[in-house]
Amino acid sequence: MKEEPVVGRFAPSPSGRMHLGNAFSALLAWLSVRSAGGRMILRLEDLDTARCKRAYCDQIEADYRWLGLDWDEGGSAGGPQYYQSSRSEYYRAALEVLEGQDLLYPCFCTRSELHAASAPHLSDGAALYAGTCRNLTAAEVAEKRRLRRPATRIRVPEREIAFRDGVMGAYREQLAEQCGDFILRRSDGIYAYQLAVVVDDALMGVNQVVRGRDLLSSTPRQLWLQERLGLPHPTYYHVPLLYGGDGHRLSKRQQDVDLGALRAAGVRPETLVGQLACWAGLLERPEPVAARELIPLFSWDKVGRTDILVPERVIDH
Ligand code: GLU
Repeated sequence: MKEEPVVGRFAPSPSGRMHLGNAFSALLAWLSVRSAGGRMILRLEDLDTARCKRAYCDQIEADYRWLGLDWDEGGSAGGPQYYQSSRSEYYRAALEVLEGQDLLYPCFCTRSELHAASAPHLSDGAALYAGTCRNLTAAEVAEKRRLRRPATRIRVPEREIAFRDGVMGAYREQLAEQCGDFILRRSDGIYAYQLAVVVDDALMGVNQVVRGRDLLSSTPRQLWLQERLGLPHPTYYHVPLLYGGDGHRLSKRQQDVDLGALRAAGVRPETLVGQLACWAGLLERPEPVAARELIPLFSWDKVGRTDILVPERVIDH
């Protein structure tokens, strides 16, 4: 049987400059695609229009190129641009399919109701939804609608979703107990990441998802949505996260370790790529290397599961 060509994606949220953690997963996603002779898509996940800026999209593209990475489709590559903020029609259509399966309900809960101290909390810190609006009568819904615009929530079944992650191994989750009914569209009309990512991966033919381990716990939800929508399941590789010296996870809020600061400090792309490749387990020592030189060395077997502690030296560079 002929294997289908690998289609991967780099799907940043343009709410800030790329940081080391983004660069680490971007490099691995790119190597995985390029070592298989596959196609790479750039998708800008700018659903949250209040936080995302077009200027960051351009910077992300520039930083991605500076790292020595390239892509075939999306952004400024020519052809479709794949800004999620312009793709509402596809998310709406998927929502209608789910509506037709009687899985959705309006949720009027306020932020403070959702985060009440009494609410059980999930491993990622989010509150498990208590089901307050799950069984409202039509009259109650009509009454509440007069006061507040609802979010749209999906009813999850009492089911375990299990899958094998290409890096982290077996992972399973009881949807009702460990995830709970989740939001697909916010009360301000913005579609949720969980829905958009599933719809877009399928429409763009993505069959391989490489991203940070922080999204491992989103995957059962996404697998279940794919099932409900009749979409294929991509294979998943969740890569370790990078932590700063004081134990916090590197994020866009840590301006000091974004690629802008590193570039301004005179760090060469080969130096950074060599360091990232060493953390990933692809090189024994952090010696300078161009991203394309890593293609023949790449194998998922070499990539470890352990999170990476970034030494101060790199941050200070
Ligand atoms: N946009 C997400 C992020 O930047 C990644 C989503 C994904 O890869 O599924 O964290």
